[in-house]
Amino acid sequence: MSCETIEPELIGYQFATLSPEVRVRVEAHLAACPACLQSYFALKRALETEPDALPRPSSAARARLRSAVATQIAQRNAPAPWRWWERPFAFTTAAAVAFSAMVGTFTIATAEPSAPLSIARRAAAADRPLLALRTTKPAPG
Ligand SMILES: [Zn+2]
Repeated sequence: MSCETIEPELIGYQFATLSPEVRVRVEAHLAACPACLQSYFALKRALETEPDALPRPSSAARARLRSAVATQIAQRNAPAPWRWWERPFAFTTAAAVAFSAMVGTFTIATAEPSAPLSIARRAAAADRPLLALRTTKPAPG
């Protein structure tokens, strides 16, 4: 590994996020290269003593991150597209409900009156009271 390829790996080496092979190569280079060892110590010192002075992600990297997050949120919030059978099924169901409502309304509107109403009409046609009040006492016993 050259000094240029070691430099980006130093943070990963510090936080133990490198693969074992890369870690061994970084250690071998640090043991043999005083300049990289010096920059590793400088990085380690900066991490431990002044974390706010460390380099921040660039504005381009932040913009890429924001864009990626916005894309994922938009994909998650977007309604799922209709499956091929859902539209005909919904239309058929709505048509069946509407047809049933029409048939039910027609049936109720044209049906014979219910029993109490028909009794009342017959009573009215016969010109007698709807309720015949009992005027005599029932026989005892
Ligand atoms: Zn080096």
